[in-house]
Amino acid sequence: MSVLLFAENSQGEFKKATFEAATYAYDLAQAMGTDLQAVSVGQVTEDKLKELGKYGVSKVHRVADERMNAFANTAFAAAVSAVAKEIDAPVVVMAQTYNGRAIAPRVSVKLDATTVSGAATLLDPAAKFKAERLAYSGKGVETVDVNGGKIVVTVKTNGYKVAENPTAVTVTDADFQAAEQDFDAVAKEIIKAAEGISLTEADAVVSAGRGMKGPENWPMIEELAGYLGAATACSKPTADMGWRPHHEHVGQTGIQIAPNLYIAIGISGAIQHLAGVSSSKTIVVINKDPEAPFFKVADYGIIGDLFEVVPKLNAYLKSKN
Ligand SMILES: Cc1cc2nc3c(=O)[nH]c(=O)nc-3n(C[C@H](O)[C@H](O)[C@H](O)COP(=O)(O)OP(=O)(O)OC[C@H]3O[C@@H](n4cnc5c(N)ncnc54)[C@H](O)[C@@H]3O)c2cc1C
Repeated sequence: MSVLLFAENSQGEFKKATFEAATYAYDLAQAMGTDLQAVSVGQVTEDKLKELGKYGVSKVHRVADERMNAFANTAFAAAVSAVAKEIDAPVVVMAQTYNGRAIAPRVSVKLDATTVSGAATLLDPAAKFKAERLAYSGKGVETVDVNGGKIVVTVKTNGYKVAENPTAVTVTDADFQAAEQDFDAVAKEIIKAAEGISLTEADAVVSAGRGMKGPENWPMIEELAGYLGAATACSKPTADMGWRPHHEHVGQTGIQIAPNLYIAIGISGAIQHLAGVSSSKTIVVINKDPEAPFFKVADYGIIGDLFEVVPKLNAYLKSKN
């Protein structure tokens, strides 16, 4: 009986979200008095798999089926649940990424388990596996109890620390063979919408809205993001007007993020925008209107004209680089 981590990879590489989920799973295994094992699907080098030992994994079950180098939700769910059954895992942990969200419910059905999606706190084994998750687009916090049985939990991205828990790790080939019909739907090709830092994984995000007046003014936002090693984001209307690409749109109808630093420039702070960013650890708002709703949730605010403030920030950061 071990906690099982689905160690998701992206083209053979593990990303921060996987290490967050691994840390979460390790802390949970410790609280349950057991160890942590992982299942890896698709081709990943043995060295990379052993890297999981740094995060507390004692055994990796490898499903190195080359058909699974591309994402196929039915086949992935079958692989994860086969390993979960083999080791009799009481809890299966995965990151709440697009793939994690796609397979968690399928794994739950196969294991007859309860799903806790987007957990923001560690499940508490001493109290009915109680955990908190965000509800109503981040405006509320929901507490969930699990009344017995197995659990599949997805961990909110950027919602849990990454900590190293060095553990001796072994790698073994899982006794699993995917069926032909598991590949009815396969993600054949993934084209990255943008180069650079992924918005959901970024530690810092510089975001701008309609206060920018037009797309021609965005170079100063990109410059600021460059100095901070940040990803860029935008409000919905700026994406709708074609000022910015849609994949940058954050909010209720866009991407939901929780970086350590979110800088909102010329964005009013409508509830639909806040729904996607209010979990950010530190929020800095630059707006010329002191009544802008965004100031109510800001940790730091600058009341001023962005066309004066942002160039000054850039000049300062440039002098420090
Ligand atoms: C169902 C629904 C879903 C929605 N989903 C989303 C969503 O996911 N994401 C989202 O962002 N919106 C969403 N919206 C839209 C949302 O309600 C707001 O209309 C939108 O967020 C406003 O964008 P904005 O802040 O860029 O523009 P505005 O509301 O026009 O605000 C511009 C801000 O810039 C400031 N400003 C102007 N000039 C300057 C200057 N020179 N210097 C400094 N500050 C300046 C102004 O004071 C103002 O506060 C949704 C709406 C609905 C109805």
